[in-house]
Amino acid sequence: MAVVESPTRDKHQQSLFDIAVEQFHIAADVIGLDDDMRSMLSVCKRQLTANFPVEMDDGSIRVFTGHRVQHNTAPGPAKGGIRFHQDVTIDEVKALAMWMTWKCAVAGLPYGGGKGGVAVNPKLLSQGEVQNLTRRYTTEIEPIIGPQRDIPAPDVNTNPQIMAWILDTYSTIANRGVPVPAAVTGKPILLGGSQGRAEATGRGCVFVIEEACKTHNIDLLKSRIVVQGFGNAGSTAALILHEMGCKIVGVSDSHGGIYNADGLDIPAVMEHKKHNVSVVGFPGSEEVNNGQLLELDCDILIPAALEGQLTEENVPNIKAKLIAEAANGPTTPEADRILYDRGIVVLPDILANAGGVTVSYFEWVQGMQSFYWTEEEVNSRLKRIMVDAFAAVNATSNQYHVHMRTAALARAIQRVADATRMRGIYP
Ligand code: NAD
Repeated sequence: MAVVESPTRDKHQQSLFDIAVEQFHIAADVIGLDDDMRSMLSVCKRQLTANFPVEMDDGSIRVFTGHRVQHNTAPGPAKGGIRFHQDVTIDEVKALAMWMTWKCAVAGLPYGGGKGGVAVNPKLLSQGEVQNLTRRYTTEIEPIIGPQRDIPAPDVNTNPQIMAWILDTYSTIANRGVPVPAAVTGKPILLGGSQGRAEATGRGCVFVIEEACKTHNIDLLKSRIVVQGFGNAGSTAALILHEMGCKIVGVSDSHGGIYNADGLDIPAVMEHKKHNVSVVGFPGSEEVNNGQLLELDCDILIPAALEGQLTEENVPNIKAKLIAEAANGPTTPEADRILYDRGIVVLPDILANAGGVTVSYFEWVQGMQSFYWTEEEVNSRLKRIMVDAFAAVNATSNQYHVHMRTAALARAIQRVADATRMRGIYP
């Protein structure tokens, strides 16, 4: 018998989309956005939900629920990742799609925002089952995606291999099997992926941390850093900072965290995780849980796991002076207010993790032109965009006397509102 895998429970009291809308209105107030534009930008333009069957290895059929949401396409095609996680809900995907619109606008990319997700724990599936699920989900969302419409990318629990299956499935349906490399980003280099894409989110996060340290007189190289989430974004940021000479004193994953006041050998932790599934048990480290990890004595905290991690309950105990949100939505609005009052600088997600979508944009441009760049070109262009975005958001923060999140949102909303207004309403 088919089993429906769609979750009905929302783990957040205030839904993630409510949080995204609340943040939007706070920033809209700052720029005096009119009511008509608020009503257009506070909803998602298009949302698709599909319940679809997947054949399992034992021959049984399971039914999964997947979504693709486009929040806004005024500045360009929708852009945003696809998440495979058991807690995915339409509400979460809508919030992430809205944040993608603002993120692309903060970085000045010619995109709107979109996001996709399937409610599944892919770690419980075989590789073949993940492929079946990915191809069927792609078939379901194919009518609304494409290189000029909506371009997917990796997010939590999705990777270049999954992007390759999306590319193949889309190309088969939409282009008789001839590859359409610009239809998806974050794909393997061999299929038109960009140099530097895999490291882009973590690298971009480090670029804005460097700028923030200069602005706030923090000696980055003497800083003690904690990273929550040791996946693509978190482990790359940790590795780059470690290679720069910073001390990474704590890291964690979904199994728990590890701490060493003298600093962790990050390449060795990566190797340990590869062989033991988790960072937990790394020799010479003390085990901490994810709650304790966030409250460790450190200078810089990088939440790089999931949303809703920094709340009014735990932020009074946060020791870090600077928080760089590699993850999307890790801080609730109440926590934001407390952090601001405590003088803790928060580099918001739509700025701090914009490196991923920026190099996705580079990958899309390269795919459109079939002309590929070197890693040095990618990284230096990424640096320019991240440094400029930080400076612009910092200037807006000073201009309106608001924290960096509201400043980033204010800039982004202004840009998207202007594009929406200029295009007008058809018909
Ligand atoms: P990933 O799947 O590679 O890594 C996620 C990590 O978080 C894993 O190590 C996992 O074990 C850990 N984790 C999960 N639940 C946890 C918990 N409760 N406590 C501690 N750790 C936990 O995903 P990723 O691509 O690195 O994405 C992480 C975050 O960064 C997400 O919020 C994602 O939306 C955001 N992000 C990623 C990219 C990208 O390019 N990968 C771009 C922008 C934003």
